[in-house]
Amino acid sequence: MAYDNSKSIFREYSKITPGGVQSNFRFEAPHPLYFRRAQGSRLWDFDGNEYVDYIAGYGSIVLGHRDPKVLKKVSECLDYGLTSGVETELSYHVSRRLHDMIPSAEMVRFSTSGTEAVMHAIMLARAKTGARRIVKAEGAYHGWYDVVAVSHHPPVHEAGPTRNPRPVPISGGLDPCMIESTIIVPYNDISSLEEALKSNRGEVAAVILEPVCFNSGAILPVNGYLEQVRELTSKLDVPLIFDEVITGFRLAPGGAQQYFHVQPDISVFGKALGNGFPISAVVGREDILSLSAPGGRVGYGGTYNGNQISLAAADATLEALADGQIQTKLSNMTSTIIEWVREAAETERVNLRTQGIGGQFQIYFTDKEVRDYREAAGINRAMYSDLQRDLRLEGVLLHPDPLFHHGVTASHTREDLERLVQAITKHLRKTP
Ligand code: PMP
Repeated sequence: MAYDNSKSIFREYSKITPGGVQSNFRFEAPHPLYFRRAQGSRLWDFDGNEYVDYIAGYGSIVLGHRDPKVLKKVSECLDYGLTSGVETELSYHVSRRLHDMIPSAEMVRFSTSGTEAVMHAIMLARAKTGARRIVKAEGAYHGWYDVVAVSHHPPVHEAGPTRNPRPVPISGGLDPCMIESTIIVPYNDISSLEEALKSNRGEVAAVILEPVCFNSGAILPVNGYLEQVRELTSKLDVPLIFDEVITGFRLAPGGAQQYFHVQPDISVFGKALGNGFPISAVVGREDILSLSAPGGRVGYGGTYNGNQISLAAADATLEALADGQIQTKLSNMTSTIIEWVREAAETERVNLRTQGIGGQFQIYFTDKEVRDYREAAGINRAMYSDLQRDLRLEGVLLHPDPLFHHGVTASHTREDLERLVQAITKHLRKTP
């Protein structure tokens, strides 16, 4: 495969934009790929190379690229001429869809990115409790707002004891006081959470959790964990925030909370909500969400909140996701990938595990189940990098980060899955 055009774009672009990327997560050495076109499950780069896309807009594409139902609603919206800074019937209509689909969504508010929605959810929790600190799981990601931009993938030697991790900022330039106020716990460990909440009683405004920890690949909650978190937070009167930015609409029409039957106080949705168009939402209990009503104790603003183009995309996307058929298809595809990759690994005698749920998956080079960040950090990263490079040459796009979450969309076909597994098999065959 030739990448000459991507290389020359990078040469010029990186002179005026750091790294030639608008999000550092998109950088890949020696240079990123630059894309020209997308359709369904496929992407084409500037050199004309075609890829089966398993990055899927970092989880923002759930129906597939250029979904006709989404494009139709968006183009109708363009005809009205309304864009941002107005309220319309469409805003009400899409709020109503979320209210009806998500079990805990007594009230709904729109914003643009997952980061913003998380920020608002935390403001609400602080206003509700009068407390300041946040509890977050190591290995989870909730955007790059100071209090949550902590301990995503910290170097293990800096991260403190496994059961009592210390907060490690994901970036320079964050407010150190805010970072120190965040309490880090291991995912899937209820006794560490209990200890953290009891020893900081009265100081914790919220526990924020990805119900499935996709930001360290695909770490599923162990049996009973989410229920125990709910029980504990209710008992200690600490609001529980589910960050459903990736789980949202994939596991079930009402998200992970519906799939696992666990009701958070506040939840945050994004990504798949707009099938690639920028939109996020904060939903939850009426007594909490109404704190930011006009004239209330908490502010709420944003020129692009509820912008019409994104709402039109969300309207079509939610309509497609409402009856659960797509979720069944996504779930079946995850099971197929797990099964086929397991067979290939057994045949080629390579230690690897695929974990996943709801159309998402990650391949870990390890022989044990991955249950938290420390276990994810212990996988063989070099083996993953070799796999990712080889797959790209075969026209199958995985992310270079070994702890990234991959996913299929409703437009992925059996043939796409076969391409993935054939490319993996070919790679494993030459693995010593
Ligand atoms: N929460 C989760 C679970 C996410 O995966 C992400 C993005 N990867 C965010 C929040 C932040 O969303 P955004 O990039 O739209 O700000």
